[in-house]
Amino acid sequence: MTGLILALSVVAQGASPAAEFEQRLKAATGPLSLHALSAWCRKNKLQAEDKRVREVIAKVVPPQRPARDAAKREAARRRAVQAREEVKKFLAVRVGSLNKKLGAIIDWMRDKHYAPDSATDRILGIARRVLEDEVEELAALERNVRSLEDGERTSVAQKSMDRQFDSRFDAVRREFTNKIFTAVEKCMKAGETGFAYDVYRWLLTIDPDNDRAHRGLGETRAGKHWLRPYAVSQYRAGLIWDARWGWIPRHEKMRARYDNGEAYDHATKKWGTLAQLNALHNDGGNPWKIASEHFLLISTADLEQNVKLITRLEAFFLQAFRQYDRFFGGKRGTALIFGMARNTKQLKVYFYRNRDQFRKYAKPPTTWAAGFYSGGSHASYFYDLGRGTTRVMQHELTHQILGEFGRRGGAYAWISEGAATFLENAKMEDGALALGGIKGNRRAYDYRRRTRKGEKQHSLEDMVSKFGRGGKWDSGDVNSNYRGAAATWFFLMTFDNGRYRGDTVQLLSDAYGGRPRELHEYYGVSPEGLTFLMDRFYRECEVN
Ligand SMILES: [Zn+2]
Repeated sequence: MTGLILALSVVAQGASPAAEFEQRLKAATGPLSLHALSAWCRKNKLQAEDKRVREVIAKVVPPQRPARDAAKREAARRRAVQAREEVKKFLAVRVGSLNKKLGAIIDWMRDKHYAPDSATDRILGIARRVLEDEVEELAALERNVRSLEDGERTSVAQKSMDRQFDSRFDAVRREFTNKIFTAVEKCMKAGETGFAYDVYRWLLTIDPDNDRAHRGLGETRAGKHWLRPYAVSQYRAGLIWDARWGWIPRHEKMRARYDNGEAYDHATKKWGTLAQLNALHNDGGNPWKIASEHFLLISTADLEQNVKLITRLEAFFLQAFRQYDRFFGGKRGTALIFGMARNTKQLKVYFYRNRDQFRKYAKPPTTWAAGFYSGGSHASYFYDLGRGTTRVMQHELTHQILGEFGRRGGAYAWISEGAATFLENAKMEDGALALGGIKGNRRAYDYRRRTRKGEKQHSLEDMVSKFGRGGKWDSGDVNSNYRGAAATWFFLMTFDNGRYRGDTVQLLSDAYGGRPRELHEYYGVSPEGLTFLMDRFYRECEVN
């Protein structure tokens, strides 16, 4: 996460300007970064290099007739970038100051010969998260902590020292987190809700009990837990979420029954042995039904697998929200992503323990389907594929989430498939889902590899003209169509340092509303210019 927040420019220090130029050129993937590079060339008196940049810029012309809201769009982009930059700069400064303050605590510990594991672990824990990218500073701090000695003292004196340490540590940590909120709130105002969401989540990995970050994410305190809105209503009904067993009666004594091999069946409202209950629900005629904030999972798999599945479904839902924030519609979308509005639509997901059950009960539209979403029944259907299950699910779930939350189904294959491929490879990292840049996007990465090998791939123009309304997705080499959609969507979401993400999500939203505008209206670049930029993006540029 710090990687995402703190990664500033990755240009090697100390290289000659001409060598540095090559790196900068490869990193400049859109109008703003190209113009910035041209200015940099002029400042460094690199005339020949500037000429090369200008040749690229000359191909990225505005459309013949600019969109009526072109100026407004540009201003919104600028605000969004500024807000994000502000958070990044702010964090960079705070990281330096946090490091110093941790140093002061370590000095105090040395002075007092106080260094129990409980204290050193806390210091190292926060330092490793915050100084992730500052390798040398982190190594120095770790050496400093390791050289501490823990003296003998009475238990009364120990308690007093623990208290003093806690209050020093908490003050430093709270100061670090609290000052970031102002910058995060600016991001929200600029419509960068997805980014703001990331920062809140990151803050919670540093300061797990931070009230303001929890509340910012729409969580409410219940007992010793922080809960999202649906979990609060479950809690009031006497249930708490257990990472292994799902919703369980929240009495400690009840939890013990699970440890003894029993489970509570919410359908029959009876206890039974886990083996009995799994056997009772292992067929499509009488499956398990497990509800969460955004899903209703109907499954014939064993309870423990279902709990893992629905946990993943929820994490995925938040990731989809985070990436496609504006799709969910202005203030309401923000209210949903930050848990302020109660979700009223649980998406139905059917999961079967094997292919036979899947074919018998789900009746897939094709014999080869490994999973599908049906807009007609408003549900998606999968079976246990082993390792491949998650990717298939994440792909179809994107169709389902966008289809169910959009105003109408997406009739533009290149857009709906692009949006689905963008999220299908999301991976669990540090308790949250992450996309992992181009290397994490299997199909876009493959598109780049093939392009560089000289294989002909669909261009942006191909995708838009062949796979828009009424286009035949299943025509030609289907894998190549998926690759083209993945590459096009990845490009639009990330080029020019993600400057057009908001426009791309707006396009997604309009497509699902049934009426997208011409592509150039979103980007302020002619169709030929966009096609050129995408080709260059995969052929020559280096992006993460
Ligand atoms: Zn699809």
